[in-house]
Amino acid sequence: MLLTDMIKDVNLTKELKHYFGFDKFKGDQEAIIRNLLAGNDTFVLMPTGGGKSLCYQLPSLIMEGTAIVISPLIALMKNQVDVINGISEDGSIAHYLNSSLNKAAITQVMNDVRTGKTKLLYVAPESLNKEENVGFLRTVKISFYAIDEAHCISEWGHDFRPEYRNIRPTINKIGNAPVIALTATATDKVRSDIKKSLGITDAREFKSSFNRPNLYYEIRPKTNDIDRQIIMFIRQHAGKSGIIYCLARKKVEELAAVLQANDIKAAPYHAGLDSATRSQTQDDFLMERLDVIVATIAFGMGIDKPDVRFVIHYDIPKSLEGYYQETGRAGRDGGEGLCITFYSNKDLQKLEKIMDGKSVAEQDIGRQLLQETAAYAESSVCRRKMLLHYFGEEYDENNCHNCDNCLHPKEKKEARNALLIVLNAVKAVKENFRTDYVIDLVKGRGTDDIVSHKHNELDEFGSGEDEDDKIWNPVIRQAIIAGYLKKDVENYGLLKLTATGKRFIKHPVSFMIVEDKNFKSDYDEERHDSAAAALDQELYAMLRDLRKRMAAKLGIPPYVIFQDISLEQMATMYPVNMQELQNIQGVGAGKAKRYGTEFCKLIQQHCKENDIERPEELRVRTVAKKSMLKVKIIQSIDRQIALDDIANAQNIDFSDLLTEIEAIVYSGTKLNIDYFLDEVMDDERVEDIYDYFHDSVTDNIDTAMEELGGDYTEDEIRLVRIKFLSEMAN
Ligand code: ADP
Ligand code: MG
Ligand code: ZN
Repeated sequence: MLLTDMIKDVNLTKELKHYFGFDKFKGDQEAIIRNLLAGNDTFVLMPTGGGKSLCYQLPSLIMEGTAIVISPLIALMKNQVDVINGISEDGSIAHYLNSSLNKAAITQVMNDVRTGKTKLLYVAPESLNKEENVGFLRTVKISFYAIDEAHCISEWGHDFRPEYRNIRPTINKIGNAPVIALTATATDKVRSDIKKSLGITDAREFKSSFNRPNLYYEIRPKTNDIDRQIIMFIRQHAGKSGIIYCLARKKVEELAAVLQANDIKAAPYHAGLDSATRSQTQDDFLMERLDVIVATIAFGMGIDKPDVRFVIHYDIPKSLEGYYQETGRAGRDGGEGLCITFYSNKDLQKLEKIMDGKSVAEQDIGRQLLQETAAYAESSVCRRKMLLHYFGEEYDENNCHNCDNCLHPKEKKEARNALLIVLNAVKAVKENFRTDYVIDLVKGRGTDDIVSHKHNELDEFGSGEDEDDKIWNPVIRQAIIAGYLKKDVENYGLLKLTATGKRFIKHPVSFMIVEDKNFKSDYDEERHDSAAAALDQELYAMLRDLRKRMAAKLGIPPYVIFQDISLEQMATMYPVNMQELQNIQGVGAGKAKRYGTEFCKLIQQHCKENDIERPEELRVRTVAKKSMLKVKIIQSIDRQIALDDIANAQNIDFSDLLTEIEAIVYSGTKLNIDYFLDEVMDDERVEDIYDYFHDSVTDNIDTAMEELGGDYTEDEIRLVRIKFLSEMAN
């Protein structure tokens, strides 16, 4: 009997029980394994946690030879190998080859493979493609190749790895055997990329549903009080595990510090941290010594914590694939999983800018992926329906009852006419253009592009002028979901008519849509701060008034007492004692003591008269201000080191140094920079600027430059202002 025939008859359930102790297969596992055992190429699409590993682990144990498992993460390989060795009787059937091994270890692994001991060999694509490894593997019997996390092949996925592109050529060099590719990313584009690149276009495909009914999706406008919203959210879900994703490492650090300052057990995680710290943080999260991880997307792949209860996106994700993977880490156990994303179209512009340095092709892909995410965020259609549609799955329910749009549905509007206009326009331009172009056309905008194609001469040019300007994006997106239009992702996202779309043109029917949301949020990275939103206008006016009176009495400008930003925070956080006052931005111990008493009294009075409760959770603390940099600057100035030398030593611009010094003196610390002024400026010039500030009602630099008649540089004015503030205020 041939070996393949023997394998056909194998009792897989028995093998499953024997090796893994499981009683039955999950989903399509058995069919997948049988397909592979029969020697066929296999393509597996299964959501995270679906049980992909077993699809190659079990057959490797049954088949003759060694299975090559290509997997992107060196850090996870050891863990996977340990798990599989744990189930085998002699404890050594899986090994890995990657750059973390020394020479002796590599020789050992090669011996084990040669003697047939190794059933599963995990390799990173970089190692697989290495000349010497190819040479070695050619001499070995390979049972099959498994490509895990196969979306890494595609630039359309969320973590493209160029080395993955070389897998097929390398397989051809080593020797042919069946290929099984596995991924949790399932857009048509990624799927076809994977198959093409691996040369398995005929592979049988096994696709599980991607719906995760227990996940709740919500998009919130990103506003300046985002930190406060997040803190409140975490407090409402105290003791539960959550992940917060930010795009930049710096933001990760900052937000983690803000959370810690608010007594939340949180830690940062990103690729810039050393590996000991990272694995400690992972451990602490798994062991629930930490509740919240603030992370870049470097965190999560392979983290198998079943009871993550919320995933927050601080910034818009770069693609819906990424979004889906990251949110997918919530509620793996089938329990609650809240997925909240903060969205602002300013972020979108920022991300588009970042792409400017890349190649045209990369930029194009990046933009299209971003636009899909933006469309998802701005739409009022059921989130689940949109996500599943994006992954090529239809969701027929009218209301999923578990997303913001379904829980707060918008009223529907008839858009039959608008759809007809769009479909006719798509037809008129021969289905060769993208959404933006079609919208310009129906609006009658004669862009260069349109004029160069002479499309301004078409009847369809301006055919939608009578409709509301904002209707076109939602009409087109919802027409795609409803199947009237198709976006050809392979071809730059060109809009194509479907058969249903063509039928609609002949016999238009009702087409109800929901309008998009307005996400023009006021989020401002510079000004955003955890308190800005809830400003008490009445109190703010009273505080300003008090400041003015005090300034007049003391004969100093008001801003010397407290800056506006400090008053704003006071009118939000209601500090009533010296301790709380020092939590306010720009208020150090010195200022609190010198001017604070009256302000605290006023705030207390105001709270009493207006029955304002100051609940503990409303007082969101910001992070301690005196950073190491500030401490170093203060020490250096005490030692009379020239300011330009300090800037050099700290590796910052002179102007940034001045900003730091300004922050120091504004919060009430005295700094004497006379030694430096003596050296770089004449006495009269210093005096002139000094007198100006003494009489001026504002400390604004631009005003000062103007008033002083352009005789002074900005640096000079700022230097003297520092001297002035330091002497007057402190
Ligand atoms: P994926 O790679 O698809 O994200 P994994 O392969 O890591 O998922 O499997 C997820 C979990 O499901 C693992 O804890 C695994 O042990 C478990 N699992 C897989 N197959 C079965 C099965 N047939 N019965 C029970 N548990 C299973
Ligand atoms: Mg996996
Ligand atoms: Zn819904």
